[in-house]
Amino acid sequence: MTPDAILTLYDWAVGVCFRCARTGLGVTPVGSISTPSGDLYELAACERCILAMERERQAYAERRGFNYAPGSIGS
Ligand SMILES: [Zn+2]
Repeated sequence: MTPDAILTLYDWAVGVCFRCARTGLGVTPVGSISTPSGDLYELAACERCILAMERERQAYAERRGFNYAPGSIGS
């Protein structure tokens, strides 16, 4: 699957990337974290970081013999 095809699997909005800390670019939700005090922070990642994380997931799956399916980060 090409990088462009992988990116079409996600929904994009302008925001802040939690991974590289760039702002004002297209990001997609990847989950949330809650603090002990009860605050909830939504996390989102940019295209470059999504593709980096997809490559990591693919490499992990290949090492472990799992099936790899892109498009499921944050879901
Ligand atoms: Zn990023």
